[in-house]
Amino acid sequence: MKSLAMLACVVAFSLSLWPFQQHKVGEKLPSTALQGFTASAAQSERDWENRFRAIPSPDNLREYMRLMSSHPHHVGSPWDQKNAEWMLAKFKEWGWDAHIENFDVLFPTPKERHLELLEPTKFIAKLEEPPIPDDPTSNQQAEQLPPYNAYSIDGDVTGPLVYVNYGTRDDYEQLEKFGISVKGAIVIARYGGSWRGIKPKVAAEHGAIGCIIYSDPADDGFAQGDTYPQGSWRNKDAVQRGAVTDTYYAGDPLTPGWGSVPGAKRLDIKDSPLITKIPVLPISYGDAQPLLAAIRGRDVPQHWRGALPITYRIGPGPAKVHLVAKFNWDIQRLYDVIAKLPGADSADQWVIRGNHHDAWVNGASDPLSGMVAVLEEARALGEIYKQGWRPKRTIIYAAWDGEEPGLIGSTEWLETHLDDLQQHAVAYINSDNTTRGYLRVSGSHSLERFLNGVARDIDDPEKRMSVWQRAHSLRIADAGNADARDEVRHRADMRIRALGDGSDYASFLDHAGIAAVDLRFGGEGGEGQYHSIYDDFYWYTHFSDTKFVYGRALAQTAGTAIMRLADAELLPFEFTDQADTIKTYVKELEKLLKTEQDEVKERNQEVDEGVYEAISDPQKPTEVPAHKDLPPFINFAPLENSAEALSEAAKRYDNAVKKVSGNGGAALANASLHELNARLYKTERLFLNEKGLPGRPWFKHQIYAPGAYTGYAVKTMPAVREALEQAKWNEADEGVYTVAKTLNLEAARINEAASELEKVAGGQK
Ligand SMILES: [Zn+2]
Repeated sequence: MKSLAMLACVVAFSLSLWPFQQHKVGEKLPSTALQGFTASAAQSERDWENRFRAIPSPDNLREYMRLMSSHPHHVGSPWDQKNAEWMLAKFKEWGWDAHIENFDVLFPTPKERHLELLEPTKFIAKLEEPPIPDDPTSNQQAEQLPPYNAYSIDGDVTGPLVYVNYGTRDDYEQLEKFGISVKGAIVIARYGGSWRGIKPKVAAEHGAIGCIIYSDPADDGFAQGDTYPQGSWRNKDAVQRGAVTDTYYAGDPLTPGWGSVPGAKRLDIKDSPLITKIPVLPISYGDAQPLLAAIRGRDVPQHWRGALPITYRIGPGPAKVHLVAKFNWDIQRLYDVIAKLPGADSADQWVIRGNHHDAWVNGASDPLSGMVAVLEEARALGEIYKQGWRPKRTIIYAAWDGEEPGLIGSTEWLETHLDDLQQHAVAYINSDNTTRGYLRVSGSHSLERFLNGVARDIDDPEKRMSVWQRAHSLRIADAGNADARDEVRHRADMRIRALGDGSDYASFLDHAGIAAVDLRFGGEGGEGQYHSIYDDFYWYTHFSDTKFVYGRALAQTAGTAIMRLADAELLPFEFTDQADTIKTYVKELEKLLKTEQDEVKERNQEVDEGVYEAISDPQKPTEVPAHKDLPPFINFAPLENSAEALSEAAKRYDNAVKKVSGNGGAALANASLHELNARLYKTERLFLNEKGLPGRPWFKHQIYAPGAYTGYAVKTMPAVREALEQAKWNEADEGVYTVAKTLNLEAARINEAASELEKVAGGQK
């Protein structure tokens, strides 16, 4: 679901084990020790892992993708079900205990789409993506869903057009400065800058009656490179489909908080807060250009300009458009494939891996590039299982349906099994679209060190070094200043990013407090066909990971992580990186408030000095902003104290781990660690607050959440950060106490775990 193109900054990741290479700055010497394993268990683990990593085959990845992408396979299509049944048979063939779980969910499809420029000239938008002769699946029109935005409300509206750039809240602030209102207008926004669902939401909040979203060639078209089929980038006809639900919760819009199993109760469609307030339609830049060219009025600020050969203007009008978007509001059946390998002695502890299998159309990159890696992992794990490997914990592999319309298959499964999952789930590892390039790791920071360790053991398929080292080198090259470079070079672990909600990890982490990870490769593969009919096998095999060797690397990385989590004697959760990260969030919040105070102070002063009045061009006047109240000081001490307590607990636990790891981990070998392990993986649950975030009770995690006004992008410590950003000072103040409380609980739990481990080290257990 997440567009690689939207991840502007490459966040990659971790240390080379390549034996023949000179060690460079920042590189740690290889260690044969494995976190959480006794010396003898580590040896056996490494042997099995080596066997595992030799199995995944690029030819198989290619063949799975060819087959699964050979027809459109969106929710409710025959090929969606066929793919699920085919995967089910494969899992069984590979020795897994597999079944399909069904959910019945709201999935609207287009009934009527019409977009017409009425004035000052006439133009009817094509709203179609034509077949391309070289591309053999692009002509399957009868099976394709035409371009649309799912969960747009039905509408038939006519009004003047206003160009709103990306349609973020900042863009509307700019419009206000210009004295331009979108009330009663239809806005045209370009993709990017925020999750697409935010655009109609903010437009409606400002009084717009309709919303058009188009792909500007500046962002993923000819300004980036040659367009399809000469190059990988979006051509003038390609359209980005996608859901535009509001951000109150993930999953089926009609079953918030419970599983939409067949026969479940559901909300009336009119009562779902997820459906947009105004009709929305996505278009290509071929269709957008005549509309944009017909807008007059004020020129746009420079950073609002796209790459079309026109003068970008804001309006409103005189361009007047008629927009019709109507849908079949059907309930469709989802097919989640769930497969298990039983654990040998801690079968009640579950390590979970997943990727979605539904697409908007043929979906070679999104989602099959990740899905086929998951399948190849499953085949390889099945293979070594036959050879005698027995994971200590139960492994669950999932192929989710219904991710595209709103992370539905994963969310409904999680909500259906919530109690069991909170009891038994150790961690969830996700992937989605992947391509050539650098390893990108996001996830719970209690797994940061562990993931660094895994990445150090995976060979980059094209360079003689580990995927960690490549990612690490990129971090050095991309660091913005000397301090940042210094940190990258000298911090033992590469930082991983926090998770927003671009894919199926969201409900595991945000709703259930299950430690989650997202893995993918990117930065060197073709982009530009996100959610168009051209994201297909022909495109992928010409412009993306054409040899499927990074797909194999993804299978090796994720599979190794799964094996280690499944086999470790002591689960490899680690808290010093987590505490360090949390301290950076606290500092960011303090800085955010300070910046806001400084900005308001400065603006008020400029108003008093007459600066705004003086610089305003009488022919294009800008409004003088009103005086603003100065943001009050907020007491961050509870956060600082609790972050410090967490840091102390983390150090104590780390020392205890070091103690039990001495002498080849002999102390661990004799200990019963089952309860302690459960305590460890449940530390993530402590970040949940049952009341949830202000205004978004389904989102319970107090450290990570997708932004209410950014969508995909993460807001860390959201209860404080979003309140600060929205000038809700009392809410920010309360947020400080709520988050501090969860940090104190976390610190207490880590201290308990440390004390248990100290007993193990002392031989008392
Ligand atoms: Zn996806």
